[in-house]
Amino acid sequence: MAGRGGTGGEFGLIARHFTWPAPSADLGIGDDAALLRVAPGMQLAVSTDLLVEGTHFLRGTDPARLGHKSLAVNLSDMAAMGATPRWATLALALPAVDDDWLGAFADGFRALAGLHRTELVGGDTTRGPLSICVTIFGEVPAGQALRREGAREGDEVWVSGTLGDAAIGLALLTGAPAPALGPEAARHCIERLESPQPRVALGIALRGVASAALDVSDGFVADLGHILDRSGVGARIERERLPLSAALAPFAQAPEVQAARSGGGDDYELCFTAPATAADAVRRAACTAGVTVTQVGRVVAGRGLTLVDGAGRTVVPDRGGYDHFG
Ligand code: ADP
Ligand code: MG
Repeated sequence: MAGRGGTGGEFGLIARHFTWPAPSADLGIGDDAALLRVAPGMQLAVSTDLLVEGTHFLRGTDPARLGHKSLAVNLSDMAAMGATPRWATLALALPAVDDDWLGAFADGFRALAGLHRTELVGGDTTRGPLSICVTIFGEVPAGQALRREGAREGDEVWVSGTLGDAAIGLALLTGAPAPALGPEAARHCIERLESPQPRVALGIALRGVASAALDVSDGFVADLGHILDRSGVGARIERERLPLSAALAPFAQAPEVQAARSGGGDDYELCFTAPATAADAVRRAACTAGVTVTQVGRVVAGRGLTLVDGAGRTVVPDRGGYDHFG
């Protein structure tokens, strides 16, 4: 768009906040398009996520954390595909040019990008209600991407890290019902919501090991449901095995924690399936990636997900899963 923003307009804003080296791109920010080269034998993995204020994040969210999260949710999609993230573009609609806000946002984005060696190669900037759209480009050896449709009867179902923290963090911030966590535990949950850690190393380590994978953005039950639908199978999941953090474990029986554990969104863990014979390989992959993994159930014939409690009784899952047009 034409520069109509604050000091130096749009171009000044980009130069001040979003121009940093992209040595692995043939051409980065500054021209009409970036030029990128994928290594021979690799496929390009592409994913986009749009974050809108009031829908995906609360008004007044810390800008550094928002910069981190807007890239993290995209890195998480690369992780879920087993792809190595390489480049990103960033489209921003801003109600006004606030250099302090933009500086902090760019710092949060850049810190996480550096950690995952992801280069910012372009974007767009316009005036409008605060929204952030990141597109990410990654590489994966041809044919080795982790897709949703490969789960087979008898496979084990695994999940990384812990579930439900982010949903409880959101409840704490919005004043929704939540267990009476201490200050440390509350901080942990809010940090899980605002600064998710994408499981990129785990996704890469699971190439050739996992039969299907996705990232848990909408809630475990809803997201695993996508793998089951795409693979044409069912699953039996033991609710008590769904991993809880030290922050939530003391409140495991609280109704909000039970619901968040199986249905809470925004955790950005990986849920994946693997043949039972690959269990050791799964544990080695987790060890390589420095992430915990938990086997939570099994893929079964038929359709649908059965959630059972500690006594083996079927419980009706809080299906969760945010549907913007539902
Ligand atoms: P165009 O008029 O072709 O849309 P722009 O003036 O919007 O080009 O952008 C100029 C350059 O700055 C382009 O290389 C574009 O990719 C980059 N750019 C614009 N906004 C951003 C942003 N928010 N983050 C990173 N790069 C950006
Ligand atoms: Mg533009």
